[in-house]
Amino acid sequence: GADRLKGTEKNVWVEFGKLAVDYKALNLGQGFPDFKPPQHVIDKMVHAVDGSENALLSQYTRSYGHPRLVNVLAKLYSPLTGQTLDPMNNITVSVGAYGVLFCAVQGLVNPGDEVVIVEPYFDCYEPMVKVAGATPKYVPIRPIKKEGVLSSDDWKLDPVELESKFSAKTKAIMINNPNNPVGKVFKKEELEMIAGLCKKYDCICISDEVYEWMIYDDNKHIKIASLPGMWERTITLGSAGKTFSATGWKLGWGVGPDHLIKPMQILHQNCIYTCPTPIQEAVAEGLEYELSVQDNKEECYLTSLALELKPKRDALAKSLVEIGMIPTIPEGGYFMMADISKLNIDIPDDGTKDPYDFKFVRWLCKEKRLSVIPPSAFYNQEHKNLGEKFVRFCFIKVRT
Ligand code: PMP
Ligand code: GLN
Repeated sequence: GADRLKGTEKNVWVEFGKLAVDYKALNLGQGFPDFKPPQHVIDKMVHAVDGSENALLSQYTRSYGHPRLVNVLAKLYSPLTGQTLDPMNNITVSVGAYGVLFCAVQGLVNPGDEVVIVEPYFDCYEPMVKVAGATPKYVPIRPIKKEGVLSSDDWKLDPVELESKFSAKTKAIMINNPNNPVGKVFKKEELEMIAGLCKKYDCICISDEVYEWMIYDDNKHIKIASLPGMWERTITLGSAGKTFSATGWKLGWGVGPDHLIKPMQILHQNCIYTCPTPIQEAVAEGLEYELSVQDNKEECYLTSLALELKPKRDALAKSLVEIGMIPTIPEGGYFMMADISKLNIDIPDDGTKDPYDFKFVRWLCKEKRLSVIPPSAFYNQEHKNLGEKFVRFCFIKVRT
């Protein structure tokens, strides 16, 4: 293989996805629902594929995004970013949020640049930055010291520590809001602090917001792109897989200013060219419908999903407390971190040098038929100790 792949061989989803299948475990690990996407989106997909309305919907469409899709995305995101978005130049579509992250990192970051990554991070950020020849600089959000159940708001970024990771070489910061795995929804002041550093060090912000609609209680999701001086330097990512509970559809988008979107489009046009047309047509029609019912919180999927997920979140948290784990109640997303350090379970040595959470999770899957994810996978080598006393649960499949 190519030298640039050295050190990126392991993948947590590959290992634990397989283990869950092999042991027929209850899978509260990898994040995906066990229910269907909204029926209207499925119906539209069927129509797009059967060609009854337009036979061309099974052929190639525009490279940077099917026109109907980018048009509705512009309508959806204009008010949220405070911009009048140009669908052709401010939006680009790729193969899931993964594809858009890849286009952003490969299209915008040079070898030798530095990229600040907030930990715990969605695991692919680290290999993507390294494969681009850049150097990741990590800074964790840390839980405050406190007895009992925490909120994801108790996980904080230290402004001094964060700034210490910025330098003249910094090209970008990657944030995930709401955060996977912690569930933190960054407050306005926290985003302003990050924005201040982006402006001071003249770098861009890659803001992964795939869980933007899954926000609980009175929390409010704010796009960092909407803060003063940030539109010009931010790429905001979204995912149809998360928005419509259709993770297998693998369709994502990036929203940003022309000068950042253009290089991403250049990369996409040559490496991927275009995404499946029927999926884009169905997601476009689906979003058109959701926009038309946006004032009705129960009818609009963008708001109703979180209402359905909240009791699942609370039920999982209650069960975890009962078995002696200490959960962090997430403000957003569909994951929950649980501190396992009070369990005092003697885990047999599995012959690996992996962190404790990896051993615990393998044991839990093999012995108890329950699959979860080891959060140290979301930390760089030096910080694995910050993740290894937790496990990550996905609560979208929890029954209430
Ligand atoms: N970012 C985060 C934070 C995620 O959890 C995921 C997983 N779905 C992705 C990006 C990738 O999304 P997609 O499935 O649309 O590629
Ligand atoms: N984003 C999902 C998660 O965090 C799944 C990622 C993957 O399977 N690659 O669970």
